[in-house]
Amino acid sequence: MQTLLVTGGAGFIGANFVLQAVTDGLRIVNLDKLTYAGNLDTLKALEGNGRHLFVQGDIGDRALVAKLLAEHKPDAIVNFAAESHVDRSIDGPAEFVQTNVVGTLGLLECARDYWRGLEGAARENFRFLHVSTDEVYGSLGETGMFTETTPYAPNSPYSASKAASDHLVRAFHHTYGLPTLTTNCSNNYGPYQFPEKLIPLVTAKALAGEPLPVYGDGLNIRDWLFVGDHCSAIRRVLEAGRLGETYNVGGNAERTNITVVKTICVLLDQHRPLADGRARESLITYVKDRPGHDRRYAIDSSKLQRELGWRPSETFESGIATTVDWYLANQPWVQRVLDGSYRMERLGA
Ligand code: NAD
Repeated sequence: MQTLLVTGGAGFIGANFVLQAVTDGLRIVNLDKLTYAGNLDTLKALEGNGRHLFVQGDIGDRALVAKLLAEHKPDAIVNFAAESHVDRSIDGPAEFVQTNVVGTLGLLECARDYWRGLEGAARENFRFLHVSTDEVYGSLGETGMFTETTPYAPNSPYSASKAASDHLVRAFHHTYGLPTLTTNCSNNYGPYQFPEKLIPLVTAKALAGEPLPVYGDGLNIRDWLFVGDHCSAIRRVLEAGRLGETYNVGGNAERTNITVVKTICVLLDQHRPLADGRARESLITYVKDRPGHDRRYAIDSSKLQRELGWRPSETFESGIATTVDWYLANQPWVQRVLDGSYRMERLGA
């Protein structure tokens, strides 16, 4: 049975990955600091499951990471742990540098020392997979796509900190030979996303009949990747990716923000019409644009498709319908995030 040390596995993508991997028979040691973005409610289905061990801690805590590696002897490390919200990085960049850069460096050093101590097939097969973002490439004009060779040009403190971590991963491969893999993906959406990000935020507000804030003119374009497809891409890269390489992961689903918001409005109007009969699109409110807001991201994932045969299984239309259904069916999960009670467990209350 394969064992993975997953970091940030109580966050949105990490938890989706952990749930899928445990279901598939892998053993997961899940190291997460439980910042505001970590939510043990998401992992409730794994309570009592012997293949999942949750450990609260920081990726930058070298003593803890070294102990976990020595005790559990993982076949791979998958690093999701990060501060991930662009708006928060504008208000307070220091935490982003601390976790995304300094924390990743600590994790890399522990991984290198652990890997050096392995022998034979265990050493040969070990992998360090770093999960990153297409935001490291900066912003696009109306045409073109990010490829793995697009120069880095991060524009927010978040993307700058992720870019720095990607460079460290690359350097650990070239300098120390650490068997690394890096994935750079587009905007994820799906079950269990913290309602500060566009899709769950708009879904929660639209359900409540509240104003739907849209930055600027709403015409910023993102590629949307269903989280389950992202997780399957990571599994595929872990299995067969070439060492030291980076792979772009995208959903082939470029949409303007306003299109995303209107799609959610239409779906909710179909499933849960507002009591007063108004169409939810009337709730859309344009707000002052985010500083340094990148205009367009588009990602070319043909390398991953060509070399490793991965394809996204969801279109934007199927993925967003599944996601809205999930939020409707899992209102208690959303409510516990919105009222803060999801944090009680970690506080021992
Ligand atoms: P998230 O904010 O939902 O979760 C991050 C998790 O990391 C949380 O559980 C948090 O408690 C944990 N964490 C934070 N600091 C930590 C530390 N110092 N030590 C241990 N754990 C820590 O983020 P997400 O959306 O799940 O993103 C996961 C990864 O994917 C991140 O690296 C992010 O940069 C990347 N990514 C996300 C998206 C997206 O659309 N969400 C897109 C591209 C890349």
